[in-house]
Parts: sequence; C-alpha cells; structure tokens
Amino acid sequence: MMSCREVYGFLDEFLESRLDDLTKVAFAAHLLLCPACRNYLATYRATLLAAREAEWADCPPTEIPEELIAAILASRTAAVQNAGDHQC
Ligand SMILES: [Zn+2]
Repeated sequence: MMSCREVYGFLDEFLESRLDDLTKVAFAAHLLLCPACRNYLATYRATLLAAREAEWADCPPTEIPEELIAAILASRTAAVQNAGDHQC
C-alpha cells in the first residue's frame, strides 16, 4: 500500500491526470482508507484553484458585452429589492 508521503508526491500528477493506471489505483485506494490524505487533497486542490483564479484576475477578459453587465446589474438590484421586501 502506498504511504502518505508517496501520495503527497503524486498529488500534482493525480490532479493533472498524469498517473498511470496502476499508480492511480494505488493512489485512490490510499485515499479511500486515509481521511488525512483526503483532507489534504481537498485543501491542495482548493489552493490550486484559488491560485489559478488569482492569475486570471490579473488579466480579465477584455470583451464583456454591455448587455451582460446590464443584465447582471439589473438582477442584483432586483435581488436587493426583493430582500428588502421580505419581512420575516
Ligand atoms: Zn495517507
């Protein structure tokens, strides 16, 4: 059975689907039996996603249709107004 240390070493490959089938099975089997590694993988993946979002934030898409912005603003305003009417 794969050790926790080995699992940590394979995280990147696992998240990028670069593991061979045998390693993937051993990796998944370890995750099934080891809550600590499952937690670690979840945290690691969340951190990775957050980092990628931060990268994208630096270069936002340049072409946002004005109708889309208007629609988003309109729906936000409507939501705020609905929340204000809701008294319970
Ligand atoms: Zn483990």
